[in-house]
Amino acid sequence: MPYFIKSERNQRGADEFHGANGELGVSDVGEPHELAEAFITAAEQAGIPRNYDFNGQTQEGAGYYQLTTWRGRRSSTAVGYLRPAYKRPNLRVETNALATGILFDGKRATGITYHQYGREQEVHAHGEVVLCAGAIQSPQLLQLSGIGEAQFLKGHDISVLHHLPGVGQNLQDHLQIRVIHRCTRPITTNDDMRSIFRKCNMGLKCALFRSGPLSIGINQAGAFVHTHPDVATRDIQFHFAALSADMPGAPLHDFSGFTSSVCQLRPESRGTVMIKSRDPFDAPAMQPNYLSAEIDRETVVAGLKVGRKIAASPALQSYVIDEYMPGNDTQSDDALLEFSRNTGVTIFHPSGTCKMGSDPAAVVDDRLRVNGLCSLRVVDCSIMPILVSGNTHAPAVMIAEKAADMILQDVRAH
Ligand SMILES: Cc1cc2nc3c(=O)[nH]c(=O)nc-3n(C[C@H](O)[C@H](O)[C@H](O)COP(=O)(O)OP(=O)(O)OC[C@H]3O[C@@H](n4cnc5c(N)ncnc54)[C@H](O)[C@@H]3O)c2cc1C
Repeated sequence: MPYFIKSERNQRGADEFHGANGELGVSDVGEPHELAEAFITAAEQAGIPRNYDFNGQTQEGAGYYQLTTWRGRRSSTAVGYLRPAYKRPNLRVETNALATGILFDGKRATGITYHQYGREQEVHAHGEVVLCAGAIQSPQLLQLSGIGEAQFLKGHDISVLHHLPGVGQNLQDHLQIRVIHRCTRPITTNDDMRSIFRKCNMGLKCALFRSGPLSIGINQAGAFVHTHPDVATRDIQFHFAALSADMPGAPLHDFSGFTSSVCQLRPESRGTVMIKSRDPFDAPAMQPNYLSAEIDRETVVAGLKVGRKIAASPALQSYVIDEYMPGNDTQSDDALLEFSRNTGVTIFHPSGTCKMGSDPAAVVDDRLRVNGLCSLRVVDCSIMPILVSGNTHAPAVMIAEKAADMILQDVRAH
């Protein structure tokens, strides 16, 4: 909690759960879309309480997300942390550089190799190497460097530096299953994007006043809910967007549509990230094994039913022509599960592939040092033993804030 608070500069000011002086700007959705408000009201009508702050006293309920933005611009870690640090003499940033491996002297990490502009380069560390390539590429770099399950590495002709069977295991992600409704009124972002006038209006609003849809994220509203009263904690998250497409990133539909996506918060399915070859340019094989656990299958089906209850509530019903996807023909649990299998996609929260812990499958210890090696830490979402029940950006920053303190503490202690 202190590190979440430290990182945050919340527009609402500081309180028990929030900071006001951190590097990352956090703002409210300035001009909510009327459909977002309808979603929240409909959730209330379905018995889900309105929540003013998902990151406050309780996560449960329906409400608006806060955004990592400041005065209408994205407040990324590059903007908040990196840009101000450019002036420091002890920072050097190399761009267009692909890290290809970790250098070792015995079991001590001493630097990395990287590929840049067609050349192999090396950089040497005075202190330690901090690996933060994310939950897909941190395990890839460890495996390429001979750290992982010994037999697997030998199978790829990589000499084993350290047998660490958990590297690349324990992959967890939030699978999103999107429900799309056709809207009775031409008020969706799909409609905005079909009209030159509306597109110009959005562009001008953003350029001149840092306001309008282009200054806000896609998912303005959402909810954290229990699918059953006997479930101990909320197990489903909704993201609501006033637009629709066949896939995230695909062209918007040519009809007025909106989307509410269902994510199971604490999936029990576990996947893997394993290199396919010793070539660092070759993407690793990502096998998420979504919906392989029975509880995950039950929860997503139950979540889709909660979504239908919200959509059927009066506040949203007046905006609904019909359910475009999965559609009224998809009613049985089996059919809803089949729909989830066929259309579910990542919401981009891969985690857990270099998990922290003290069991044999753990990759890093509680100070994020790679078990069995020296001067090497992993600092990114891969260290999460269990995926957090919410979006992963703020937790990634919290992990980095805490790691920075631990690195300094360890330097001072020696
Ligand atoms: C499309 C998308 C939308 C998202 N939306 C949200 C959201 O709304 N809210 C939210 O909370 N989270 C969101 N997330 C998730 C969030 O961005 C991630 O959880 C978070 O960035 C993970 O941080 P990380 O440090 O673990 O990894 P990353 O942010 O992935 O950082 C890893 C970095 O390492 C670099 N890298 C990897 N391999 C190498 C290599 N070999 N050499 C050199 N560099 C390398 C990568 O380029 C990257 O910059 C979204 C993610 C995506 C992709």
